Formats: sequence, C-alpha cells, structure tokens
Amino acid sequence: MRYKARLMTQPMERDDRHLAIARTLSEALPYMRQFAGQTFVIKYGGHAMGSAELAQAFARDVVLIKQVGINPIVVHGGGPQIGAMLERLKIQSSFVDGLRVTDQATVEIVEMVLSGSINKQVVTAINAAGGTAIGLSGKDGHLIQARKLRRATRDPESNIEKVLDLGFVGEPERIDTAVLEGLASADVIPVIAPIGIGADGQTYNINADTVAGAVAAALGASKLLMLTDVEGVLDGSGALLSELRPAEARALIADATVAGGMIPKVETCLAAIEAGVGAAQILDGRLAHVLILEIFTEAGVGTKIHEF
Ligand code: ADP
Ligand code: MG
Repeated sequence: MRYKARLMTQPMERDDRHLAIARTLSEALPYMRQFAGQTFVIKYGGHAMGSAELAQAFARDVVLIKQVGINPIVVHGGGPQIGAMLERLKIQSSFVDGLRVTDQATVEIVEMVLSGSINKQVVTAINAAGGTAIGLSGKDGHLIQARKLRRATRDPESNIEKVLDLGFVGEPERIDTAVLEGLASADVIPVIAPIGIGADGQTYNINADTVAGAVAAALGASKLLMLTDVEGVLDGSGALLSELRPAEARALIADATVAGGMIPKVETCLAAIEAGVGAAQILDGRLAHVLILEIFTEAGVGTKIHEF
C-alpha cells in the first residue's frame, strides 16, 4: 500500500522540482558564457556576515562563480567584530565626528581580528564549500601599499575647515596585483583583509569598501559587487533606488541622504566606474544567494550605479 502510494505521488513531485532546477541552470547559460574569464571583486561586509547560514550560502556562491570560469576576488570587512574585540579587551576608543581613532594599540587588534580570525573564517567557509581559498592582507605579496588618510571637516557654524587625525587609518596608495594574478591562474580564490602597510612599515586599517574598489580598478575588474546589511541605497523615504546615475549618487551624498558607512560604499562605486570597472553594485547581503541572483538571473537586486 505504502509503496504504491509513494509511486503515485513522488515521481510527479520530483519531476517538477528537477525540471525547475534544469530550467534555472539552462537560463543561466548566457550569463555563464558572457562572464567566463572575467574578474569580479566581491566586498563581503562585516554586517552581512551575520549568521552561519548566510556565511555558508555566500561561500557556496563564491565557489559556484569560480566553477563556471569567473575569477572571484573576495575583500572582507569586520567593523562589528573589531568593536566587540576592543570591548572584550577593554581598549577604549575615542571618536572624532563618529569615526574611530585608531591608535597603535587599536591597530594591533584591528589586524588580529581582520587578518587572523575573520580572514580565516571566510577562507575556511569557502574551502568547506569545495573551493580553494587563500587568505592574505595588504601586507602579503606587496598587495597594498597604504598612506595615512587625510580627512577634513568644515565646522557648519564658523565654516572653518579642520583636519581630522584618525591615527592609523589609511588609504591605498599602490596596489600590486601580481600576487592576485598568480593565485587566479592557479585556480585559487584570494580572500583579502583590508590592512595596508606604509612605506615606513606602519600598519594601516583601511575601509574594506575602499580596498575592494582599489583592487577592482587595479585589476580592471568587470564587476564590483558590495554586499551589505541593507537592500541597497535608499532614498529619503527609505525606498530602494535600484539604479543611480553618478551625478544622482553624488547629490545623495551632498544632501546627506547617503550617510555613515554608505558614503564610502557609494564613493567607491563612483571611483570604480571612473577607473573603468564595468559595473558597480550594492547588494543585500542578508539575502541568501544574492550573488547568484544578481549574476545569473534577470532579477533586479540592490542598487546599480551607472550612466544610463
Ligand atoms: P558594511 O559592513 O556593509 O560596510 P556599513 O554599516 O558600513 O556596512 O554601511 C551600511 C549602512 O549604511 C547601512 O546599514 C545604513 O545604516 C547606512 N546608510 C546610511 N545612509 C544610507 C542610505 N541612504 N541607504 C542605505 N543605507 C544607508
Ligand atoms: Mg562599512
């Protein structure tokens, strides 16, 4: 009886499910052909790393991307994890205009958390998903030479400009892509921690968005994909802006609609496009398999910044 019932229902269900998968794979073919051999730089946000389940889905996506002949380069952040560790170690931070001042004690913890724990977590997840990932920071293979970031703000009342000293917060000065090219030709997925080294040997903490943009520009990447913890760039009423022209994006920063951590993201997209990167997109890292959705389907996800 039981056997008969199974025979009657299961084959039908199985056919539907398998057919849907077959159709999906078939529909992805044009994208696979178009993107084979191209380099995609993927920024994996500290906030988008939330759950173990999401991390596993991200790792599988990266391995799938590599498997179909695209060359993925992962750059990760780690703001929340750095904050948690500083708190655990009771290292006090001072803030200037909402930005953490990175003194010598802080930069040591930043490097430990980024290059040590987070970098190895991402590498382990990709390797567990069947890929071969190697973790590196800007110090490895001369990847990122950094210089101190100079930031100035204007006091709204007096209109006097003051220079902010953020300590060992840096920006990329020179990217040496040789090590990345070597890894790509060996079919290895590079996972980069956003740490740079100054000409004087000083360790610098760099915003991961900025690193992803600089690496994408240096490699002439076809896509820069930034995973974060929101749907994309939101307008003043909280609605998703699925496409933005560079001028519109600049206006959103100028009128403070785009604020906080979204500023370096949008600025990085603008700089990347200007440097010749094919496409720059901000995606919702809270959505499992958002990378596959964006790369291999027609679905419009996140915010695409481009001239249209
Ligand atoms: P990540 O770890 O991905 O770099 P950030 O916190 O640095 O994340 O940047 C994303 C954050 O930017 C969002 O969670 C949101 O709070 C903030 N943000 C500010 N302005 C906007 C905006 N206009 N649209 C979307 N997010 C914004
Ligand atoms: Mg950020």
